[in-house]
Amino acid sequence: MSAQRGIAILGSTGSIGRSTLAVIALHPEAFKVTMLGAHSSWQTIVEQALAFQVETVVLIDEQAAAQARAALAAAGAKTRVESGAQALADAVTGAEVHMVMAAIVGAAGLLPTLAAVRAGKRVLLANKEALVMTGRLLMEEVRRAGAQLIPIDSEHNAIFQCMPAGYLPGDVPAGVTRVLLTASGGPFRTTDVAKLPHVTPDEACAHPKWKMGRKISVDSATLMNKGLEVIEATLLFDLPETKVDVVVHPQSVIHSLVEYADGSMLAQLGAPDMRTPIAQALAWPERITSGVQSLDLIAIGQLGFEPPDYIRFPCLALARAAARTGGTSPTVLNAANEVAVQAFLDGRLNFVGISTVIDKVLQRADSSPVKALGDVLDADAAARRLAVSLIELSSGAFA
Ligand code: NAD
Ligand code: MG
Repeated sequence: MSAQRGIAILGSTGSIGRSTLAVIALHPEAFKVTMLGAHSSWQTIVEQALAFQVETVVLIDEQAAAQARAALAAAGAKTRVESGAQALADAVTGAEVHMVMAAIVGAAGLLPTLAAVRAGKRVLLANKEALVMTGRLLMEEVRRAGAQLIPIDSEHNAIFQCMPAGYLPGDVPAGVTRVLLTASGGPFRTTDVAKLPHVTPDEACAHPKWKMGRKISVDSATLMNKGLEVIEATLLFDLPETKVDVVVHPQSVIHSLVEYADGSMLAQLGAPDMRTPIAQALAWPERITSGVQSLDLIAIGQLGFEPPDYIRFPCLALARAAARTGGTSPTVLNAANEVAVQAFLDGRLNFVGISTVIDKVLQRADSSPVKALGDVLDADAAARRLAVSLIELSSGAFA
């Protein structure tokens, strides 16, 4: 590849952040890590900053930042360490940053991701919640700033790879009749429905095919992850919700498909390993190695497909309804889900209660149009308050 490109990594200590650094480590001549950002895991970020000789580190937590600063100084590193949400957003806008990996989990990733978009960067988007909650607003900002949004989510990255040459997210895809998102079905695809209220956070996080952070693992178990991905696909590929289908494909070998007007279906296949979409996005439109082993189709033998079970997994239907309603509904859906998933992980809500809480919050919060970022932030905050109070009121009933 040509000149070395600077990359800032938001959420560097997480699953996607670490996989991104693993790919970059294979190509030190092509990429320079200029900035690392995370919430509070200072030991990990100090190790990363030393290994990649990073100029700037930002931690949200002030005390963790102080510890990182001391540890880096003691190691003789020149790394600058800052703290707080504003510092995180500011650190992705400098001229030395060509690309930003947006891999913070949840709505917390919105402001730095938006800052990167507004600065016209190439944004590698893993943080689907930031897009789902802002909807068209984020896509409009991308267009206005001349930024590029490259999807990291394996399904959307697969679709991006199957789009016509020269296609960029936000464009209307010529000749495309629909896209098909594949879903593994998660750890509870065949679990007895009567057992679902009693499943534990560790069982929900034991995904059969992917190793991921705990929030997205729970989303995969409820199928809310696929619901968020349906909304994500409507926005990235400018398609109505009716043209985004979901197919359960337990082997997780086909990562998604695009159907064209002539009947052709293009699919992207690969081992279920996030280093492939990360490498594709880092190098696009070129190709680089990712460290992922090649796929042995003979060993896999069979590929299976099933319809999703909307009764067992109500979150998928809730997300589709929110996509159709539009306005602040996806914002409300995402916020209620984040609160409910955290309550489930903390043992304050049972697994089935997650969809119950989201459903109730959606029924009580009217959808309103999204004209400015303030509309999104207000709807997000109100939905969180509602979800928290519903969970508090129902403690005992759901836990
Ligand atoms: P993770 O929990 O492993 O990592 C989350 C990262 O975000 C950490 O670095 C953490 O420090 C940081 N973070 C958490 N809260 C923060 C806050 N308030 N402010 C700043 N930073 C904060 O999560 P992950 O699995 O790497 O997922 C990250 C994002 O990528 C999510 O949006 C997820 O949906 C998406 N994604 C992940 C995968 C996967 O395979 N892990 C696949 C597709 C999409
Ligand atoms: Mg995905």
